[in-house]
Amino acid sequence: MQSFDIKTLAIRAGYEQTHEQENSEAIFPTSSFRYESAAQAAARFSGEEKGNVYSRFTNPTVRTFENRLALMEGGESCVATASGMSAILSTFMALLEQGDHVVSSQSIFGTTKVLFNKYLAKFGIEVTFVSQTDVAEWQKAIQPNTKAFFLETPSNPLTEVADLTKLSALAKQYDSLLIVDNCFCTPVLQRPLEQGADIVIHSATKFLDGQGRGIGGAVVGSEAVVEELVRGFMRTAGPSMSPFNAWIFLKGLETLSIRMAAHCQNALLLAEWLSKHPAVEQVFYPGLTSHPQYDLACKQQSSGGGLLSFRVIGGQKEAWSVIDQTRMLSITANLGDVKTSITHPATTTHCRVESEERLKAGITDNLVRISVGLESIGDIKADLARGLDALY
Ligand SMILES: *Cc1c(COP(=O)(O)O)cnc(C)c1O
Repeated sequence: MQSFDIKTLAIRAGYEQTHEQENSEAIFPTSSFRYESAAQAAARFSGEEKGNVYSRFTNPTVRTFENRLALMEGGESCVATASGMSAILSTFMALLEQGDHVVSSQSIFGTTKVLFNKYLAKFGIEVTFVSQTDVAEWQKAIQPNTKAFFLETPSNPLTEVADLTKLSALAKQYDSLLIVDNCFCTPVLQRPLEQGADIVIHSATKFLDGQGRGIGGAVVGSEAVVEELVRGFMRTAGPSMSPFNAWIFLKGLETLSIRMAAHCQNALLLAEWLSKHPAVEQVFYPGLTSHPQYDLACKQQSSGGGLLSFRVIGGQKEAWSVIDQTRMLSITANLGDVKTSITHPATTTHCRVESEERLKAGITDNLVRISVGLESIGDIKADLARGLDALY
């Protein structure tokens, strides 16, 4: 089979044209499907014959999105879900049992931590949080009942880079699966499965859509794990993606490579500018040579990404004043949008994480996160300069 570049896959892969010979992918807003006969219905229900039964299980538009993302990530299978959080939930519900243990980076999305600590804990699943960057800590945390490693790289909001090659080797050695939330890089910048990860998770809500229009998620990996186990949970519990949302994400994927290139270009320019600003104490961006894991970032991702964060000189008051003096930037916790967004992680995305744990993860009160969009870089800088210039 001819192998296509990821730019081509993002535009053309995974679609079966209908008899109408449409050029753009059709949407199938149907809950159920009809059979030619009672015998065919029986064959579909027993699984003897492949094909659609009910849109909680499979839907043609959703399947196109799943096939396309699987090919882009280099995985055998993909299951789309209603949100990024339900992708994470479905993965853990499918793979883990009472008494199992997970080693997770402490630098993960705040809601994922709540999912682990408040809900998975209720079912006897224990999670140990360790440093994103210290492989020795991961090794120390492993128990006889450890089944999975979980991380995001680069992390939110400090952009710490986890070593995928080393952590996947460690996971393999202890019969655990490495699960990577690839939301920030997308397969355009980083393909964790090629670097040894077993499962990739997405919040399609972010860069895959890229224009802030819908909520969705996905799980990519081997057929045995994703198609059998994760889809099994998803079709039973029901956090399925709607066909309308799948279509939006398909349109998002078509422009993903050019958007990611433009996000990265703007983010690097902004990171460089912020680094030189006298009101800025520290900038976190993997594309800066000053980033502690710059070399590792260069090795495992093709560019720095669209997210950065920085500490202003001062505390919450100063951070909030920079945010409040913007006029164009969106004050919102969403990210991965063409519109630049600015947020104060300590009081928004990470507010439900206990303050001690939050500080351990480096989410200080003077930290501001920016998801760099595609507006003119001059306008983005000017919007931030208003608040920053007033601080010194
Ligand atoms: C937003 C986000 C999620 C959750 O995704 P939803 O689509 O909002 O449910 C998970 N992981 C990361 C890294 C995210 O940024």
